[in-house]
Amino acid sequence: MENDNFGFETSAIRTQLERTQYLEHSVPLYLTSSFVFEDAEDMRASFAEEKDRNIYSRYSNPNTNEFVDKVCKMEGASAGFAFASGMAAVYSTLAALLKSGDHIVSSSSVFGATHSLFINYFPKWNIETSYFDINKPETIESFITPNTKILFAESPTNPAVDIIDLELLGTIAKKHNLILVIDNCFATPYLQQPIKWGAHLVVHSATKLMDGQGRVLGGITVGDAELIQKIYLFSRLTGPSLSPFNAWVLSKSLETLAIRLDRHCENALKVAEFLEQHPNVNRVKYPFLKSHPQYEIAQKQMKLGGNIVAFEIKGGLEAGRNFLDKLKLCSLSPNLGDTRTIVTHPASTTHSKLSVEERLAVSITDGLVRVSVGLETVKDVIADLEQALYKDF
Ligand SMILES: *Cc1c(COP(=O)(O)O)cnc(C)c1O
Repeated sequence: MENDNFGFETSAIRTQLERTQYLEHSVPLYLTSSFVFEDAEDMRASFAEEKDRNIYSRYSNPNTNEFVDKVCKMEGASAGFAFASGMAAVYSTLAALLKSGDHIVSSSSVFGATHSLFINYFPKWNIETSYFDINKPETIESFITPNTKILFAESPTNPAVDIIDLELLGTIAKKHNLILVIDNCFATPYLQQPIKWGAHLVVHSATKLMDGQGRVLGGITVGDAELIQKIYLFSRLTGPSLSPFNAWVLSKSLETLAIRLDRHCENALKVAEFLEQHPNVNRVKYPFLKSHPQYEIAQKQMKLGGNIVAFEIKGGLEAGRNFLDKLKLCSLSPNLGDTRTIVTHPASTTHSKLSVEERLAVSITDGLVRVSVGLETVKDVIADLEQALYKDF
């Protein structure tokens, strides 16, 4: 039942493995670490990669294959590899493609663990990273050196919800012969398909909106088949592969991605509009609010605004902490993209080890609050935020 002209939702639902003799409707879970060979010749040909078949679940498994096939269709990619987490995807993708002496140009605001990898670990192998300011895209090319191999970015960014012009990145990557890698975790392929704008590889933490129910960790890289082959060979050797169970959960999750995202985005826009008119809020950042500095770019490259809203509470660090303490419905948790609304205060938690200047360089002010808007009845979410914003002095 496969057809390349199917729509996004149909691909997410109907891209599946062939049925077994039991004619099951829903794809079963293949909990097996290895697969058997018919005879010595079959084994030889399989290891020689003359056959496209499963050998060992560190290499591939029917459930991880189903998950990869679905995400490839949804992102418009020709190949992919599934990982145990988003960070395994980020690390293995870069480690497979880079060598000592290579250089990365990255957007200044990237996921915290990615940032630590760039500044604390890659330099050990003589791989340096330069950061461009998201608000000064005209300076990107000035960071490119003859050793630059990778252009890396996230959009929307975490936690400040800045937007980077993917078309511009695609043009720069092409002109300088760089591999453009986009972390598309905040948007998902339903809202944004970076390959359309020139990305060679798209990485995801499937832990977030792809699962969307806070259950499993997972990651995936999809894109250009030749690059994916290099990533596959590195990964089947080093072992960051996704477990069949998590792949099975994630494949089912993808079937409801579009419908979940529609509601996530609708709720997030309502939350953003509520916050924007609140007297105790200084500034709200949501890609589909007209006041967002990169609103036009968001309109060009995103279908909807996503589920993350960032805002600046009046009163700085102290006010941010008090606000979190007063929340009754919303959860305090490091995850995002869950059915449950989650609120974080980066300056006192994830980014507390940075100095004020370092935080400001990545748009994290002391009063910045990040809301991952969930799927609860939106009036209940807004009522909780409202009572927590209320100041009785
Ligand atoms: C969470 C996240 C990651 C890391 O994913 P894990 O599944 O937690 O390893 C990478 N990039 C972004 C943008 C994220 O939000």
